[in-house]
Amino acid sequence: MASPVAHSIIGLAFGAAALIPRSEGARAFLRNARRAWKTLLACAFIACAPDIDYIPGLFHGNFNLFHQQQSHSLAWVALLALAAWLAARARDPAAGPRAMAFLLALALSHLVIDLLTNDLSVPRGIMIAWPFSDRYLFLPFHVFPNMAKQDWSEMLSRRNFAVAVFEAAATLPFLAAAIAWNIRPGAGRAPPGRA
Ligand SMILES: [Zn+2]
Repeated sequence: MASPVAHSIIGLAFGAAALIPRSEGARAFLRNARRAWKTLLACAFIACAPDIDYIPGLFHGNFNLFHQQQSHSLAWVALLALAAWLAARARDPAAGPRAMAFLLALALSHLVIDLLTNDLSVPRGIMIAWPFSDRYLFLPFHVFPNMAKQDWSEMLSRRNFAVAVFEAAATLPFLAAAIAWNIRPGAGRAPPGRA
């Protein structure tokens, strides 16, 4: 499945497009992005969060042992978005349905990217319909090549570095488009979540 490179860049694109106040120019965007760095970091974290299932594998010498299972399901992603929404509401009670929809789309981006990534380790794909089904969904076409991630030696291999560079090249245009979307003439837009 894809690495944190692809997931976090897409997470940042979500944040740049929707959570940073509209900027009049590149300099204003950088200023606004700097002010919102915690929010952007949270977006990158949420976009990567389903890969938390690598952690138990660390203690078994096989990173893939529990990977692409429950935390890669629609149900888990919905719970993740709900938890993030409750945290956002604790900070800003005006966070409403639009904020929830944004967080859901952000978390879902992880599953979409993983489904568009090749997978050579069996069982291939993700357990998308858990807890209703333990079957894995694996698409017949892919955009991203697989990463070898069974242990540290595979993780830090030259091939994985090349895959990470490819992921960055494939996803950075989305971040650039999100920034271009943000930088438009027009006075400060209220961030979503205030609906
Ligand atoms: Zn994943």
